[in-house]
Amino acid sequence: MSTETPNIVIPRDLLPRDGRFGCGPSKVRPEVVGELTGVSVSYLGTSHRQKTVKSVVGSVRRGLAELFALPEGWEVLIGNGGATLFWDVATFGLIERRSQHLSFGEFSSKFGQAAAAAPHLEDPVIVTSEPGTHPQPVPDATVDAYCLTHNETSTGVAMRLTRPQADGLVLVDATSGAGGLRWDPSQVDVYYFSPQKCFASDGGLWLACCSPAAVERIERLAGSRWVPASLDLKIALDNSRLDQTYNTPALATIFMLERQIAWMLENGGLEWAASRSDTSAATLYGWAERTPYATPYVAEPAHRSPVVGTIDLEGVDAAMVSKILRANGVVDTEAYRKLGRNQLRIGMFPAIDPADVEALTACVDHVAGALAG
Ligand SMILES: *Cc1c(COP(=O)(O)O)cnc(C)c1O
Repeated sequence: MSTETPNIVIPRDLLPRDGRFGCGPSKVRPEVVGELTGVSVSYLGTSHRQKTVKSVVGSVRRGLAELFALPEGWEVLIGNGGATLFWDVATFGLIERRSQHLSFGEFSSKFGQAAAAAPHLEDPVIVTSEPGTHPQPVPDATVDAYCLTHNETSTGVAMRLTRPQADGLVLVDATSGAGGLRWDPSQVDVYYFSPQKCFASDGGLWLACCSPAAVERIERLAGSRWVPASLDLKIALDNSRLDQTYNTPALATIFMLERQIAWMLENGGLEWAASRSDTSAATLYGWAERTPYATPYVAEPAHRSPVVGTIDLEGVDAAMVSKILRANGVVDTEAYRKLGRNQLRIGMFPAIDPADVEALTACVDHVAGALAG
């Protein structure tokens, strides 16, 4: 088999203005990088324990509360390590004895694995469904934490967040959904995420919006079992209240996150940001539905993610299409590898211009046509 990539040049007028369609790290708006350059000597390289940086952290915390319309008593926590680290944090600081996990893809399966491996917790309940679908939580009196994923980034399935008719905290991994999907805080206790997806910043941080019930759980579990300090949610809570992190954070990441939240708020808030992704999604899925060689992978339209689109191709090698797009400066359209499908996966986060998603579909048509000869 030849591994040579045919030299297909996409006409300039078909190309998107910005060719980044990855699902994380994802497009950082160039304007924000410009603003970062503007604070290169006043903010970068200064102490995270002083006002210059703490005021930006404070703005992130207040901005998220406003963006998500968090009710009175909610708190925004911040720490180092990203969503993956937060799973370990949660096994110590949020799950009391037993958790239930909805597992419907690579990311949503991992928190369950972390809980199963924790020797101080009982075996978790794992509720699974086929890739491309999502399961529902099952009320269970033995469970004190229901673990949901707002948007399964590996498959492009988004789920509506609904609290099960049961006691127990609802913990939501919202890493690729937060800032691009709507949600109702009354249905959730902890809404946590990393900032390199809808928030168009870099990785390495976790943020967690916590309900009063979640804060109460954090405070009650503190000191009840051994916790490494770097994973201690009570320490994170205490530091967050002072607009700090326990150890040194990446200042550029915090700055870009703050600017992206401000951009969303200035333009109309979460509704505006989510609508931008909706527009991109209508373009992408609409194209796939009327294109003979393309099909939306997620069969149920209501479960198709507005922020991560997965499109199956037939009779055209999707990996080859992605490779040719990449050679033309249109990057990160590759499918999630472990899903093992002939597929394109397209980030449609709010930072991504809906017009660029439209242009991308024209580029794919051009490449597919050229490959067919
Ligand atoms: C990207 C992603 C993660 C992992 O985030 P990290 O910042 O790499 O830890 C977890 N969950 C979901 C749903 C994701 O999309």
